[in-house]
Amino acid sequence: MKKILAVALALALTLTAFAACAESKETLTMATNASFPPYEYVEGDQVVGIDPEIAAAVCEKMGYDLEIVDTEFDSLISGVASGKYDFVMAGMTVTEERKQMVSFSDTYATGVQVVIVPEDSAITSVDDLFAEGADNAVGVQQGTTGDICATEDIEDAGFGTVERFKTGTDAVLALTTGKLDCVIIDNEPAKNFVAANEGLTILETPWVEEDYAIGMKKGNTALQSAINEVLSTMTADDYNAMMDDAISVQPLSK
Ligand code: GLN
Repeated sequence: MKKILAVALALALTLTAFAACAESKETLTMATNASFPPYEYVEGDQVVGIDPEIAAAVCEKMGYDLEIVDTEFDSLISGVASGKYDFVMAGMTVTEERKQMVSFSDTYATGVQVVIVPEDSAITSVDDLFAEGADNAVGVQQGTTGDICATEDIEDAGFGTVERFKTGTDAVLALTTGKLDCVIIDNEPAKNFVAANEGLTILETPWVEEDYAIGMKKGNTALQSAINEVLSTMTADDYNAMMDDAISVQPLSK
C-alpha cells in the first residue's frame, strides 16, 4: 500500500512539474532559412510555406504559440543543439552527421538533389559532371546536403570547384549571371527558381534522394513523440493541400 502511495505521489509531483513547465513556456521557437520555396519563404514580413504550416499545426495541437526565426542555414542545427531554438524545420535532410547533434522526428517529406543548368548548357545529364576532363563551377547553398555531395563527388574528385552561397537564391542568381556552370539544390525549390527565371532548366537525371524531418535538441523525447504523434495524423491529402497553398513561383529578388 505504502509503495502504491509513494508511486502515486511521485506521479502527481511529476505531472505538476510537467504542467508548470508547460505553463512557463508558451512559445516554441522554430528556426529556419526562409529562402527555400515552397517549404519556407518570405511573404511581406512573414515566413510562410509548408514547414511553417506543419509547425503551426504541431504547436496548435500541443498548445503552444509558434515563433519563427529566419536565420542562416548553416547555424540551424547548432542553434537547436545548444537550445537556442526548440526545433528546426527547413526542408532539413536527415543525415548521420546531423543525427550526432540533434534528434529527428519521423520524416514528413522526400527531397531529391537536382542540377539546374542554363538551357544551352553543355551539361545535359548528371553523368556529364563526372566525365573525364570535366571542370565545372558548381554553386550550392553552404552547409546543405547539396554542398556535401558536390564537395565530395565533384571538388574532391577533381571534376571542378564548388562555390558556396548563403542562400539558394544567391546561388541561382550567380548562375543566371554566368558565374557558374550549374547549381545543385533540392527539387522543389529548384522548380520554383527555374519557373521564376527564364533560360534555366533542371536536368532530368536526379542525383540523390533524401528524407526531410524536424530536428530538436537531442534527448528531448517529450517533444519528439508529441511531434511524431501530430505528424502521424497528417494525411497525404493534408500535405498536398499545404503544397498547393504554398505559392509556386518566387521571384529571385526578395
Ligand atoms: N535538404 C537540404 C539539406 O538539408 C537543403 C535544405 C535547405 O537548403 N533548406 O541540407
